Amino acid sequence: MFVPLDSAALDALLSRLAALLGKDPEAAGAGLVEAHLTDPSVLAATIRILDDKEVAARVAAGYARALRAATLAEQERLTKAVLAAHAAAERALRAGESRMRAIFQNAAVGIGVSTMDGRIVRVNQAFADLLGYTVDEMSRLRVPDLAHPSDPPDMWQLYEELVAGKRDHVRLEKAYPRRDGGVVWTDLTSSLIRDDDGAPEFTIAMVQDITDRLRLQDRPEHQATHDPLTGLPNRAMIADRLERIFTEAGADTRVGVCFLDLDGFKRINDTLGHQVGDELLVAVADRLARCASGPGRVAGRVSGDEFVLLVEDPAGPDEMTGLAARVLDVLSQPVQLGRHRTRVSASIGVVEAGVQETSPAELMKAADLTLYVAKSEGRGRYVTYDADRDARQAARYELAAAIPDALDRQEFTLVYQPLVALADGRMTGVEALVRWQHPDHGELSPDRFIPLAEETGVILPLGRRVLEQACAQAAEWARHFPDRPLPVSVNMTVSQVHEPSLPSDVARILARTGLDPALLVLELTESAVMDNDSAPLRALADRGIRIAIDDFGTGYSNLAYLRRLPVHILKLAGPFVDGLAASSPASPPSSSSASPSVPSSFLSAASVVDEQIVDTIVRLAHAIGLAVTAEGVETRAQADRLRALGCDTGQGWLFARPQPAAAITELLRRSGDVTDHPLQDR
Ligand code: C2E
Ligand code: MG
Ligand code: MG
Repeated sequence: MFVPLDSAALDALLSRLAALLGKDPEAAGAGLVEAHLTDPSVLAATIRILDDKEVAARVAAGYARALRAATLAEQERLTKAVLAAHAAAERALRAGESRMRAIFQNAAVGIGVSTMDGRIVRVNQAFADLLGYTVDEMSRLRVPDLAHPSDPPDMWQLYEELVAGKRDHVRLEKAYPRRDGGVVWTDLTSSLIRDDDGAPEFTIAMVQDITDRLRLQDRPEHQATHDPLTGLPNRAMIADRLERIFTEAGADTRVGVCFLDLDGFKRINDTLGHQVGDELLVAVADRLARCASGPGRVAGRVSGDEFVLLVEDPAGPDEMTGLAARVLDVLSQPVQLGRHRTRVSASIGVVEAGVQETSPAELMKAADLTLYVAKSEGRGRYVTYDADRDARQAARYELAAAIPDALDRQEFTLVYQPLVALADGRMTGVEALVRWQHPDHGELSPDRFIPLAEETGVILPLGRRVLEQACAQAAEWARHFPDRPLPVSVNMTVSQVHEPSLPSDVARILARTGLDPALLVLELTESAVMDNDSAPLRALADRGIRIAIDDFGTGYSNLAYLRRLPVHILKLAGPFVDGLAASSPASPPSSSSASPSVPSSFLSAASVVDEQIVDTIVRLAHAIGLAVTAEGVETRAQADRLRALGCDTGQGWLFARPQPAAAITELLRRSGDVTDHPLQDR
């Protein structure tokens, strides 16, 4: 469209739009429409000069929304005019041919009147022009002659209902075949005209050409609101649609979201290549679009392998879970990707709520959290939103998110728990255990935050800090008590062990703190050393650092495998030691005879088994050159049994609780015999 604009007005407009680009790109897009710059080339040019894709997408979304609003307003005006024409036509039909013809001829909108048996009795010039006929030619056609292959089946059903007097209006988008073989897309409103007795007499069709509007879909604003790979609406468009449901729908409208993430997509991408990955995304998008067909439903791709199905006003939660189940089912069908035949599964978070209960942002956040639960519950499933679980989850998230700041504020401290030689009660080392002095929640134990730190990746800086602090402390003890070398054990999570920089990080920290590598023990769980490249462990062991397997007996308990790794110490998990609690046999079994010789009257069946297991583990560990430390020793009886079974070291409340470094310093000063000194609890 040509818009006359003098240069001052143009300058003013441009600077206003440029200012808007920075803070509200949607408003800038809408500004184009308000300035009547609705020719698609204007948007195309605007988008071309914007480097930032995100901003461009938002400009286009704002433009598309404003244009749609303008078009709707235009249609609204038209509908009113048409209804007036309708009334006029009705009057005209009664008043006589000549007046009616005058009205018809002047209408810019195509108007046609047909009888109940489908004969076209009147069309105006606009309608005839639209389809490329003369008025006379068109008047010889019948309504069914105007069918087009793209007519949805229910369109003609609606027409039947109109003719049968079951409805008074039908409004839809219809393609008409042109006389020249082309097609013209129209916005069609068909109304029933009844006679004075109310019996159906004519139908009157009013059509407006919307071919240009539909062609807009090939334009930049369509591209900016749709994902180029799959053709599905993109994140911006889904957000826009959701926003509109909330702002435009009635107060008791409900809204449902299935937030979906493909399981193991990264693996497919990595193993079969990105091209196959892309094909898979297209196939998935296709299936989702089919699941989401129908009024008020839309499927969109919001990022990599994340999709959303949005349902406006679902019948209730069941409609959403039904949809989620169907999606899982449809996705489980094999997909042929070039030469590869594969299957995908997905995890889905399902949320359904009334628009008054929530906001678009909250709804999507709830869907996201619920998806996360579906993932962690084992994938290939949908999980529905649960407010309580969500609150717990949110609290966890909050805690995890606070860890980086807490590191800056030095809120993490270490306590040290003595490791004691079972033979003579001497302190042979300490295990460093982290505590979080949380400003609101008080002291938090590692079980509360280490798993979170592991999930979110913040374990790496936290773990480095712990290692640094523990090594610095151990080095200080070594300087003050050169005759009483005290190794420090530091715990490592799976991802710390998998971190390629671990050996160099440790080397750097040892160098910086001046700690002798022989005084450092790294505690790893079995799962951390299982399917892991053993080279980093060897690099550490070659420096003289020792490796302990923590909580042995809770995982694979695969001694044969451990034999091939540079491991030095086995830490027996607390539950085995618990099992020994009931046993206090009159005479401990000699280390060469197995426990069946223990009088069973003194032992519960379970503890006999535990005793046998501990006995076996200790023997095997010793056979492959590992020292054994028992964890969680709480009673004298347990300590006695463990010593009798040949266990080397004990750790537990019986000997000492975890305590601040100063308390350990005090112990060292007094000779380091833990059992001789009552230790303060903390
Ligand atoms: P863990 O390495 O097995 O540490 C031993 C845990 O048992 C400690 O719990 C300790 O306080 C507790 N404990 C010691 N003696 C007894 C006893 O006689 N009876 C009972 N019931 N428990 C006893 P804590 O300090 O709460 O640490 C829990 C876990 O958190 C640790 O288990 C370790 O896996 C992890 N952890 C602690 N500090 C760190 C750290 O700095 N980094 C990493 N990655 N993990 C850590
Ligand atoms: Mg440990
Ligand atoms: Mg342990």
